[in-house]
Amino acid sequence: MSVPSGVLVVGASAAGLATVEALRRKGYRGELTVLGAEPHLPYDRPPLSKQVLSGAWEPGRARLRTEAALAALEAEFVLGDPATGLDVAARAVSTASGRVLRAGAVVITTGLRPRAFPGQDELAGVHVVRTLDDALALRAEPAGTTPRPG
Ligand SMILES: Cc1cc2nc3c(=O)[nH]c(=O)nc-3n(C[C@H](O)[C@H](O)[C@H](O)COP(=O)(O)OP(=O)(O)OC[C@H]3O[C@@H](n4cnc5c(N)ncnc54)[C@H](O)[C@@H]3O)c2cc1C
Repeated sequence: MSVPSGVLVVGASAAGLATVEALRRKGYRGELTVLGAEPHLPYDRPPLSKQVLSGAWEPGRARLRTEAALAALEAEFVLGDPATGLDVAARAVSTASGRVLRAGAVVITTGLRPRAFPGQDELAGVHVVRTLDDALALRAEPAGTTPRPG
């Protein structure tokens, strides 16, 4: 199999990070780019609904790797710019801000998106916690405004 001239990983979370780490570990020396929808470097989601939400951890503690460990990967992190389109033939990914990123190989690690209940948007006190920003927004909500389950 030929070695791609560059790899673009779409999704800057656990799977995206595992992809770039595995490539480097196996000796891949080409260009690596990680495109993330959120403005944050890769973080772990399980603590969002536990230590981060309770306030036991500040958000930075949920980071999956230190900045030094990420720098050692020699990968470019393009953050806060969701992919909006993929041209498979051209291996080109377009983004919300108008970037077009090309690479020899594109790896998609965008996880999943939670499904909302019908009419959920109108329900006071019902939250989705998928991202760090979701958890921080819920944590900042004054106590007592979210109804307790009956
Ligand atoms: C609140 C919470 C608590 C959890 N607790 C546990 C637990 O206790 N135990 C357990 O085993 N698992 C738990 N999980 C599940 C676990 O976190 C996931 O299995 C894991 O995060 C999956 O990693 P992933 O990289 O595949 O996807 P994700 O972590 O979902 O990452 C996908 C990334 O892609 C990005 N993305 C999405 N669309 C685009 C786009 N168009 N362009 C660019 N980037 C995009 C997203 O912003 C995100 O950063 C929890 C998840 C959540 C949300």
